[in-house]
Amino acid sequence: MDWHRYENTRQVRINQEGELVYLTFPVLEEIDWVSHLFSTRIGGVSEGIFASMNLSYTRGDKKDAVDENYRRIATALGCRVEDIVCSDQTHTTNLKVVGREDGGKGITRPKDYQDVDGLLTDEPGVYLATFYADCVPLYFVDVKKRAIALAHSGWRGTVARMGQRVVEKMREVYGTDPADLVAVVGPSICQECYEVSEDVAEAFAEEFHRPGQAEEILLEKGGGKYQLDLWRANEVVLTEAGIPAESIQVTDLCTCHNDRYLFSHRASHGQRGNLGAFLGLSGN
Ligand SMILES: [Zn+2]
Repeated sequence: MDWHRYENTRQVRINQEGELVYLTFPVLEEIDWVSHLFSTRIGGVSEGIFASMNLSYTRGDKKDAVDENYRRIATALGCRVEDIVCSDQTHTTNLKVVGREDGGKGITRPKDYQDVDGLLTDEPGVYLATFYADCVPLYFVDVKKRAIALAHSGWRGTVARMGQRVVEKMREVYGTDPADLVAVVGPSICQECYEVSEDVAEAFAEEFHRPGQAEEILLEKGGGKYQLDLWRANEVVLTEAGIPAESIQVTDLCTCHNDRYLFSHRASHGQRGNLGAFLGLSGN
């Protein structure tokens, strides 16, 4: 494989197990009571635009293929498909606390909730799942309270400070001190690939108004077009929410640059499957 990578001091690890290729983050690997991964396109059974590890049941792929894909992901995580709880993403900042009673929702049984872009739990044996094709996955682990969260942060989520919402919710529900959090800004679209229009750029300039921030996040190209750095914007949000800079790992992999290995909405013009982010309390 020939991945396009950025220089980064704390890189994403690329793992291969049989046919399956998946990504992990060194800062989370160090915590032995969590299990996590970010899927790639490699090692599933879906075909065509869904080839081969598609994790969406609602984009036109065959149910049997997606079922098998989830079984392979569950094996890599060391859990059962029935232990995984899925989000219902609609670019909100709504969060939901879930537990063992929610296991399998979105895979083996219907979800009984909607408009949920982030999930939280502190129950061992619960594995959270959120879905991507350029948007930013955010992983959170409270190493003291043994609580976890996973959240979807596209441009709408990022400008609405989804990362901060998660930190506030973890404080409210689990008594989390942000100083005890380890966080990951996962594989997603890079600044070079992510052109946005003036209205999006203005929303970011307004929200990220401290000296130097807007210049760092937005690159003006002329003609009302900008390049937006969602990685840096999310890192700023997490830092301002109180997570120590050394506890935040930012990806070095762009979904759009690596569209042979990762699903990218931009690169495929919407003809694509979904990647999944997974984070669980492995129960030990
Ligand atoms: Zn890129």
